[in-house]
Amino acid sequence: MPTYRNADLHCHSVVSDGTLTPEALAARAKANGVELWALTDHDEVGGQQRAATAAQALGLAYLTGVEISVSFAGKTVHIVGLGFDAQDARLQAGLLATRGGRGQRAMEMSEQLARAGIADAYQGALKFVGNPELISRTHFARFLVESGVCRDTNEVFRKYLTEGKPGFVAHRWAALKDAVSWITQARGIAVIAHPARYGFSANEEYALFSEFKAHGGRGVEVVTGSHSAAECLRYAGTAREFGLAASRGSDFHSPEESRTDLGTLPLLTGDLTPVWELVHERIQDPATA
Ligand code: AMP
Ligand code: MN
Ligand code: MN
Ligand code: MN
Repeated sequence: MPTYRNADLHCHSVVSDGTLTPEALAARAKANGVELWALTDHDEVGGQQRAATAAQALGLAYLTGVEISVSFAGKTVHIVGLGFDAQDARLQAGLLATRGGRGQRAMEMSEQLARAGIADAYQGALKFVGNPELISRTHFARFLVESGVCRDTNEVFRKYLTEGKPGFVAHRWAALKDAVSWITQARGIAVIAHPARYGFSANEEYALFSEFKAHGGRGVEVVTGSHSAAECLRYAGTAREFGLAASRGSDFHSPEESRTDLGTLPLLTGDLTPVWELVHERIQDPATA
C-alpha cells in the first residue's frame, strides 16, 4: 500500500456551498501537494464522479466523500463519509431525504430576515446557489456580504445565522444512527467532523462519541481547518480514548472565504491510525491501478 501523508479529506464544491467546481478543486489540491483527496459536499454525492475523474487525470489518489447533516442533542452535527460506493441506492435515498427540507427552511429564513429589515434574501441567496437542492446558510451569507449588510461571511453568521439570531431557523436533519449506517452499508467509513465546533458539554460530547461508536462509526477529524492547535491535541486524545482512527481535512470552501487552503494543515502525528488505512482498498490511486 502506498503511504499518503498530505491527505485532505474534507472540502466543498459548487455542488454544495463551495465556490469552485470539482475540477478546479482537484487542480488546486494537486498544486498544493495533496497526495490523497476527497470531495465532501454537504448531503450530496452529485459531484463524486467529476471529482474522481479529475483526480485520475491529475494522477491524484481519490476517496469518495460526503458530509451528512445530523441532529444530535439539539444541535447540528456533521458526519463525514469516506470510501463508500457513491452509486449505493440506500445512501442516495438517505441523502435525498436529508436535503429535502432545505427549500422550505430557506423560505423561512428569508421571512425572518425580512422582519429584521433585510428584504428578498431568498432571491438574493439563490444567485449564489450552484445546486437548487442544496441552498444553505452559506449562500445567504454571501448575499448579505454582497449587499453590504456585513463585511464578511463570518460576521453574517455571528449576527444573523446562528442560534438565537434573526435569520436562524431550527431544522431537523438526519438521525446519527441513520447517517452512520447509510455510509457503512455502502462500504464506507463514518467520521465525526470538526468536533470542537459543536459547543457540547463534556457529557453531551461523551454521548456523541459513544453512540457514534455503538452505531459503527470509525473515525474523527483531528486535524481540520476548524481546530486550533490545542483542539487538534485534545481530539487526538479523544481518538485514542475511543479507539477511533484520525482524519485530516481543510474544510476548504472558497479562495476568498476559507482561512485554510487545501493541503496546508499540519500532518497527523504518527501514533494515530489514519482513517484512510481503514479504507485503503477503496482508494482510487492512478499510481497503483
Ligand atoms: P447549513 O448546512 O445550511 O446549515 O450551512 C452550514 C454551513 O455554513 C457550514 O457547512 C459552513 O460552510 C457554514 N458556516 C457555519 N458556521 C459558519 C461561520 N461561523 N462562519 C462561516 N461559515 C459558517
Ligand atoms: Mn459548508
Ligand atoms: Mn461541517
Ligand atoms: Mn464541511
